[in-house]
Amino acid sequence: MTALEFAPAPSHDPGETDPVHYGSLVPEGHTIHRLADDLADDLAGGAVVASSPQGRFTNGAARLDGQLLDRSEAWGKHLFLWWSSGELLHVHLGLIGKFRRVPAMESASDTVRLRLERDDVAWQLTGPQTCAVVTPPDRETVVAALGPDPLRRGARRREQFATSVRGSHRPLGAALLDQGIIAGIGNVYRSELLFLLGIHPERRASELSADDAGRLWDVTVDQLRRGKRWNRIVTVESADVGRRITRTLPREDAHYVYKRGGEPCRRCQEPIDHIEIAGRSMWFCPTCQPR
Ligand SMILES: [Zn+2]
Repeated sequence: MTALEFAPAPSHDPGETDPVHYGSLVPEGHTIHRLADDLADDLAGGAVVASSPQGRFTNGAARLDGQLLDRSEAWGKHLFLWWSSGELLHVHLGLIGKFRRVPAMESASDTVRLRLERDDVAWQLTGPQTCAVVTPPDRETVVAALGPDPLRRGARRREQFATSVRGSHRPLGAALLDQGIIAGIGNVYRSELLFLLGIHPERRASELSADDAGRLWDVTVDQLRRGKRWNRIVTVESADVGRRITRTLPREDAHYVYKRGGEPCRRCQEPIDHIEIAGRSMWFCPTCQPR
């Protein structure tokens, strides 16, 4: 199939995040880190009122109700909220989960699994893949299965990533989605990162040099930091789109290759192509990312 035969991108882009409705589209790690910060800003410092308007998390909500939020953290696509009781709330939004900030005066619909409220703000969780009250050892188990997260601190993460990615014999396009190799990358970033590195998505991860693996890590850290700061994925540089890059850049200008099948490459004008790897489409430039 050529790129031109590929169906046009739907207007509802499942790879990006909306600046207000966290996770209204499939979230990547930058969204969860941003969410962790924003939840802490809104909910820490006083007793939180927790409820489950949907009724499917009534017991869990009862355990959180009246607790103080000590801290929140993200690891890849996993969110952990630490409560004064010593327990944690573990959330993974999955494909359709959303965590929305609303005014506390707004009542919750019966699709809200968990509502956390303090003062005049409420956070409402709908459709999560995971929503559970867990213990610190439970968190350890989850985290132990995850690779390094580019948005967390730690001196050895770059080296850990280089070692684990180069130990994979799968195509890089698949290895980057493996949360055990690197935590937080999803479908948008995997396409964009490999374009930025000039690497074909089918290249074996094990063929990557140590230098290239390190470079891939560094670019990933830079990109996710920008994604977290702006709460959306914007990978382009101004020289390649002929305009200043800001967080309000229109979506059609924000990416190099993602969902740009058939459109000209921003660097070489060659039509962008796509390929299915790990069960999902990804996009690349045949010239800038030679096999
Ligand atoms: Zn190109």
